[in-house]
Amino acid sequence: MSTDCLFCNIASGKTDTPFLFENDNLVVFRDINPHAPVHLLIVPRRHIRSINDLTPQDDAILAELFFVSREMAKQEGVSESGYKLLFNVERGGGQVIFHLHLHLMGGWERKA
Ligand code: 5GP
Ligand code: ZN
Repeated sequence: MSTDCLFCNIASGKTDTPFLFENDNLVVFRDINPHAPVHLLIVPRRHIRSINDLTPQDDAILAELFFVSREMAKQEGVSESGYKLLFNVERGGGQVIFHLHLHLMGGWERKA
């Protein structure tokens, strides 16, 4: 855990950011500046800088990020209408918070 990392601080409960889901390995919260009607961030509690820094030991957390995203899409009602999952990787890829996170965006065309 890095005390000067915003997402380490959020994930460890040091801010008032509400979690939509949390377990021992990850937390889910809403993006503060949403780019879609539903815009969630799925964030491992452990500090990993970016996709570039994953090691073979991170297999499990990576799989969990995707499985939890799928469940969050259901919970947010965008599973059927569809959604995007996105990792920005390093500055050129649009990453501004250097703590791994998966964006879940959807809700543009919700089914009635
Ligand atoms: P990146 O560009 O690094 O992939 O995405 C970082 C995301 O974190 C951005 O979409 C930004 O709006 C979001 N963000 C930055 N600071 C905060 C914050 O303090 N709280 C929340 N909930 N989201 C944040
Ligand atoms: Zn961090």
